[in-house]
Amino acid sequence: MNTNGPMLGPDEIERAANRLEGSPPEATLTWALQTFGARVSLASSFGAEDMCLLDMLCALTDKPRVFYLDTGLLFPETYTLIERCRERYGLQAIRLTPLLTVEEQAETLGPELWKRAPDRCCGIRKVEPLTHFLRTEAAWITGIRRDQTPARARARVVEPDEKFGLVKINPLVRWTHEDVWGYIRTRDVPYNPLHERGYPSIGCWPCTAPVLAGEDPRSGRWQGMDKTECGLHQ
Ligand code: SF4
Repeated sequence: MNTNGPMLGPDEIERAANRLEGSPPEATLTWALQTFGARVSLASSFGAEDMCLLDMLCALTDKPRVFYLDTGLLFPETYTLIERCRERYGLQAIRLTPLLTVEEQAETLGPELWKRAPDRCCGIRKVEPLTHFLRTEAAWITGIRRDQTPARARARVVEPDEKFGLVKINPLVRWTHEDVWGYIRTRDVPYNPLHERGYPSIGCWPCTAPVLAGEDPRSGRWQGMDKTECGLHQ
């Protein structure tokens, strides 16, 4: 549970969600910065949606707070993109790491845990570091969109995050895939080149495969397993 607690009550969150539902993402980000100041941060996996939000955030503030989960298993292209963000935006992203390195995890729990127990692996490499970080935040911003998965279809622009005990802000909930790529092209936003090689959704390399045109964009994640989320989103 977030020890600082959300600064907004359920009624205020509901009012904000209703008011911002039809607003452009930039208006939601402006509200987030005004409401939470230095206690709101963007969660970035440096996917296409997160790159749009990063670009918007950097236009609104010269001190964007952006964090990412460095599982130690990201694609080389993702690490290169993080470097490009440093050059383009002067971004000093907050790097969250698991308690165990990949090698230590293999020594303790056996090699390639992601093949045998992906929920445990995501728990160690993603959920634990995120939980620890969010304890001192009042709100976090994510790039989830309603049309990505059935579970995400219910996401609000602003909602209470019961799991982590703070406010969750989803400025792109109403956006489509086309909206995302329209923004990237118009603003010449840098993006992960893997998107052009059949990877619409990019996570850790052991659990991300390319998908064919027309397939569910997230079907390349944890292929062959009964798993669709890392455990970060409810
Ligand atoms: S996505 Fe795969 S490799 Fe990455 S933390 Fe989850 S199970 Fe482990």
